[in-house]
Amino acid sequence: MTIKITVAFLVCLFAGASSARAEWVTRVTDGIMGTRITVELWSEDKAKAEEAIDAVLDEMRHIDDSMSTYKPTSEVSQVNAKAADGPMHISKELFDLLVTAKEYSVITEGAFDITYASVGYMYNFPKHIHPNEAQIEKALPAVNYKHVLLDPKNQTVQFSQKGVRIDLGGIAKGYSVDRGIDVLKARGYTRAYVSAGGDSRIIGDRFGKPWVVGIRDPRKGEGETISRIPLVNAAISTSGDYERFFDEGGVRYHHIIDPHTGHSASKVRSATVIGPYATRTDGLSKTAFVLGPEKAMEIYNRIDDIDAIIVKLDGTIIYSKGMHH
Ligand code: ADP
Ligand code: MG
Repeated sequence: MTIKITVAFLVCLFAGASSARAEWVTRVTDGIMGTRITVELWSEDKAKAEEAIDAVLDEMRHIDDSMSTYKPTSEVSQVNAKAADGPMHISKELFDLLVTAKEYSVITEGAFDITYASVGYMYNFPKHIHPNEAQIEKALPAVNYKHVLLDPKNQTVQFSQKGVRIDLGGIAKGYSVDRGIDVLKARGYTRAYVSAGGDSRIIGDRFGKPWVVGIRDPRKGEGETISRIPLVNAAISTSGDYERFFDEGGVRYHHIIDPHTGHSASKVRSATVIGPYATRTDGLSKTAFVLGPEKAMEIYNRIDDIDAIIVKLDGTIIYSKGMHH
């Protein structure tokens, strides 16, 4: 979607080295987590590579089944239904991701907040539905990551008040990309690319060359890029106001919500974060929409292991310190 790998280099260095042909194996799958999944890896055994890709997709389906708020049976939907009534025991995986999500709320000074969903659930972008002012005002007090009480000893979650809802849509794709990379690493792959929508991660290089990831121009078509970033062993996430949106009465309603107002957060057009893990880059890429380019860049520059590229509302592009040469 936002990011497209440019398959510019066809490398056939090892052709003939063994009975099986070494090659790049790629698969593109739609419909998991409502987005497009791409897996590409260098393999010396195509059958094993296809099996490894199946395992990556199985892992992502499992994450989707347990974390999607679109699925009433998911663990997260159960939490939303019951956690205001008392402490609720949850899986280690979900517990750990809720801990991580809270860490990003702290780092981003509240811009990233999974309880945005307490208001956010009333939006439906494909159907052009948004809550009115009275509905927002009523639901807004429930938006605050501090309402999510986590007890590590008992591995429970509890909401401190009624009306709180969580949604991991802002971090689950990055997390699933990291889990996908783990699956590939465990099988011995050292050169691979995994992406879920706007979140991607790369391990290894392309035989002495970096992978090249294009960052889409937020006001042009999918193929048009504002920048092409060479990457080795890195993750990259882009958030944009063009992903899921509708315009009404001169207002753009889109899928990143300002936890302080309950309205769409519209202070930039797009933000790209580069870092070591996709969970991390996903958790940080929404900040600029809520806090604005200057404040967000200040936070990004404070964090050692990340870089950022922000497209401001006027179309100008700003880069974090680490990207200036
Ligand atoms: P993508 O879903 O394509 O990866 P983003 O990474 O930009 O796009 O995430 C957008 C999603 O984040 C929204 O669809 C919603 O589920 C979630 N979200 C919206 N506002 C917030 C927020 N303030 N904090 C955390 N998550 C949010
Ligand atoms: Mg994302």
